[in-house]
Amino acid sequence: MKQNQNSNDAARIAANEKRLATMRHNLDNLETEAEALLNKGDAMTAGDRARLLSIVNVAYHDSGKIEGCSSIDGCAACDFCQHMMQAAESNPLIICGACYAWRDQWKEAAWRRHKLNARILSSVLFTEKELSTLSTITALCRFNEDGDVVNVIHARNLLRIGKTHLITSFGWFYKNNIDVEKGLNAEGYTTRAMLPKNIRFIHSSPIIGIPCKTTWFDDARFTVYPDTETITEAIANGAHECNGRRCRECGYTCYVMTRHEYPVDIAEYLRTDKKSRAIICDRLSAFKASRV
Ligand code: SF4
Repeated sequence: MKQNQNSNDAARIAANEKRLATMRHNLDNLETEAEALLNKGDAMTAGDRARLLSIVNVAYHDSGKIEGCSSIDGCAACDFCQHMMQAAESNPLIICGACYAWRDQWKEAAWRRHKLNARILSSVLFTEKELSTLSTITALCRFNEDGDVVNVIHARNLLRIGKTHLITSFGWFYKNNIDVEKGLNAEGYTTRAMLPKNIRFIHSSPIIGIPCKTTWFDDARFTVYPDTETITEAIANGAHECNGRRCRECGYTCYVMTRHEYPVDIAEYLRTDKKSRAIICDRLSAFKASRV
């Protein structure tokens, strides 16, 4: 009996290793192909560009926080996110030290596809006609469930995706507001009234418990609070309660909210362990006291 069990386990492990090896082989090929096409630079043909765009991964989420939405992700391994994570090593108040995407360790396939997305979308400025071929974007779509925009080309491509998928409501989450703004300006959006009607701009506050300074194009600022006391206070002061809910439960606010003159506040509860929470709460209290 025990011998049978052992041989079943060995067979399962071998099958799993084979599946992983195939997956890695396919991803290696995809990355090599994308790099070869990108290296052609100006010599890239229309066919090369179409092939690159076909490699961009649009994920559909049939479970989890953004169930019912698709997403086009960057990658927490990008330069911007890595820089923020490095900064968080010496400052536990920087939210990137508690990055969900990084800590959850996206399954390797998803993580590598996200990295490819960021590489392609930040290297080639696609035309609207080309971007209109991204056919698997659904009625609700999030930009960057993982990662952030990494440069102005990346931001412009996302704006053009919005322009070519007018029946989709997009929620665009970012900390890198500088490149989002450069992208907006380059695409001719220079006032709040001109902003795309089907994209909501959600500015993630980099500091835990402290809402960020807003920009002219923010529809919301999304701040993570470290404990019950601080999040209760934020909600009492009018912040919309995200607080670990699924987007479906809150009516997909970040995708379809009415655009007001000023951004709304959204409050989320920090997911972390007890020890880290205590350190962060102490640091936040000290930081607030130093500002009085
Ligand atoms: S506020 Fe609502 S839509 Fe936005 S992230 Fe939270 S649950 Fe999702």
